[in-house]
Amino acid sequence: MAAARGPRTIRRKIDLDNFQVASVKTARDINRRIVLNLIRKHQPISRAELSRHSRLQRSTVSVITQQLIAERWVKMGASGNLPRGRKPKFLHINGERSGIIGVDVRSKKTTMMLADLEMRSLAQDSLLTSTDPDEFVSELAGRIRALMKTYSRLSFEGIGVALPGRIDPGSNRLIFAPNLAWKSVDLKSALELATGLEVELENAANTCALAEIWSGAHSEDVHNLVAVTVSDGIGVGMILNGQLVRGTSGLAGEFGHVTIQENGPLCGCGNRGCWEACACNAAAVRYFMEAAPASSGPRGPQPTFDYILRLAQQGDPQANAALDQMARQMGAGVAMTVAGLAPDVIVIIGEVTQAWGRVGKIIDEIVAKRLSMGTRTRIIATNPDTQPRLRGAIALVLQKHFGVPHLV
Ligand SMILES: [Zn+2]
Repeated sequence: MAAARGPRTIRRKIDLDNFQVASVKTARDINRRIVLNLIRKHQPISRAELSRHSRLQRSTVSVITQQLIAERWVKMGASGNLPRGRKPKFLHINGERSGIIGVDVRSKKTTMMLADLEMRSLAQDSLLTSTDPDEFVSELAGRIRALMKTYSRLSFEGIGVALPGRIDPGSNRLIFAPNLAWKSVDLKSALELATGLEVELENAANTCALAEIWSGAHSEDVHNLVAVTVSDGIGVGMILNGQLVRGTSGLAGEFGHVTIQENGPLCGCGNRGCWEACACNAAAVRYFMEAAPASSGPRGPQPTFDYILRLAQQGDPQANAALDQMARQMGAGVAMTVAGLAPDVIVIIGEVTQAWGRVGKIIDEIVAKRLSMGTRTRIIATNPDTQPRLRGAIALVLQKHFGVPHLV
């Protein structure tokens, strides 16, 4: 937590991403977020420790914690065991207070998770992603309402949605999603109307970047983190200098649609040779099919990427060659990202990380070969079991109350 560091490096800036909120909030609200986040991070924690970590006066901490207890955000736990004197009461987050719904929309399947304040999963559900956005909202809202009924003891804080596309920051409409058939959709208003909950939309790669910061898996010195999601497409989410970067149009991070192969394969965006078209899961399937020997007889149904991963694990040379080619193309785009942004860390998210032992090595080699200036950027894989898109979607809602850990 930055607030615990020396005075010269103390950072209590509110994420500019939330400037609309921050501009109308008082200093007390900012302190409240700092205290709430410190409790989350160091729980169980006494008021004295909170005061030390936050450098706020004891009386200020007392007022804030009283308010947080009254609103049931925080609970008072067991007394501490000091050898003598007054026994301090420890504070911890009241995980059972609220429910947050995270939704991960992907081109074919949408997954949702109900989590508590501590991001523990209470329930999960999934549905097919309809090509008709109205139909999709109606079905998704129905599932959400059913969850709210089942868990009616919770107070619902909102819905966070990770989307395979970009959102216009002005209108909140989904404006660029080549892997969904939807055009300029106002998902936020439709879902808010249908559920009565506030909805936060974010690009999936951005939510993954947020999930990485939120999970606390990185050192507090990491302020430049890039998340690269590799699935139906390739998305890049950037936290630079501690801020989520969206750009004027909301389209920042579309490295996936930079041409890396002139006259290359056709991309969902309509262009040819985009990084995405050369390095996403479908590209590996294509490489696999192209390598099929002509004598192999009539082709069966097109294999899935999961099937290729399984074959590769069994040592199939054709599947491994397809993965190697995908990895080289991934490396080309990662090198571009490292050269352009020089982040502390690049996190790769997607099914391909199941073969990281093979793929990660090739990416490292390509990056080293292409960047003669050298690089200190670490390139790592995220464990898919942690469901970063869903956790990031939930963090979108949580950050309204807690701020972004170690960025506040
Ligand atoms: Zn493209």
